[in-house]
Amino acid sequence: MPEVIALGEALVEVMRPGKGIPLDRPSVFLGPYPSGAPAIFADAVARLGMSSGFIGCVGADPFGRCLTDRLQADGVDASRVEVVTDAATGVAFVGYDEEGGRQFVFHIAGAAAGRLGPEHVDAGYIQGARWLHITGSSLAVSERMRDACYKAVEFATQAGLMISFDPNLRAELMDPDDVRRLVEPVLTHASIVLPSGAEARLLAGEESDDAACWALLERGVQIVALKRGAAGSAIFARGERIEVPGFQVSEVDPTGAGDCYAAGLAVALLQGLDVVQAARFANAVGALAVTQQGPMEGAPMQEDVARLLST
Ligand code: ATP
Ligand code: MG
Repeated sequence: MPEVIALGEALVEVMRPGKGIPLDRPSVFLGPYPSGAPAIFADAVARLGMSSGFIGCVGADPFGRCLTDRLQADGVDASRVEVVTDAATGVAFVGYDEEGGRQFVFHIAGAAAGRLGPEHVDAGYIQGARWLHITGSSLAVSERMRDACYKAVEFATQAGLMISFDPNLRAELMDPDDVRRLVEPVLTHASIVLPSGAEARLLAGEESDDAACWALLERGVQIVALKRGAAGSAIFARGERIEVPGFQVSEVDPTGAGDCYAAGLAVALLQGLDVVQAARFANAVGALAVTQQGPMEGAPMQEDVARLLST
């Protein structure tokens, strides 16, 4: 039985090899790279040496095998990954403009990934774990996937699991009231929330990052970990705000950093580190994640993190 469980969209990412190659004309792609925020999280937890499980759906095709092979090779329990025979594996195509901004074409909700529903979530599997992770991207895929996440949160709450929530929302694409409504059933039960500044402001309806994080704490969240890219993170807990500086690395691809950071925080807290030490560990995991091309490729092993922490 895995100690840490995530569920949601599993997909492969296919990206342009450089900036300034828009997606609306023929050119080359790199990939497929295994991806999907909750799948990255589960994989990163396993690479850090803790048992994890992933619940989701892939197609019976090479992209699906790319995902399940990677999860299994890294030690993730993929016994709850359903291989569906009548839909193709989810895909995200990614292009970068000259400034590094990203452009996407998604095939997720209508693909195998979108088949995940509440029937895939059983009480025994969730309640045998210690930690459940939910990402906001899954809540936005489809009503079925949202219901799967809500059901997992319900089972986890009954059994007293720690629940972490990464808002991971493309907020600019959604109405703020819709976002708050979708997130509410998860936020109410989350012990730890890991927003970016923009996500925190959106969720709390506050003007500043700090005011938003304090407002989230007042709602009963125990820890808010504010992710700040290369600057590291800030921890809001027990009435204190603690700045935890980031590590200097050379960034190749920032995709997946947030999911790896969340994995680092979960593993460190489960191993009994105090929250500031855990955030330092998570910063190291996030920093190493951005040093490789591909969302899951940079998810570090425990010994890589130990090496960076000792520098
Ligand atoms: P995404 O949603 O794209 O995965 P995010 O916005 O959720 O990312 P970030 O703040 O970009 O999260 O990254 C998460 C953590 O990873 C940061 O808090 C930091 O610890 C680490 N990190 C990210 N980028 C860098 C970087 N360039 N250098 C060092 N550490 C980084
Ligand atoms: Mg994020």
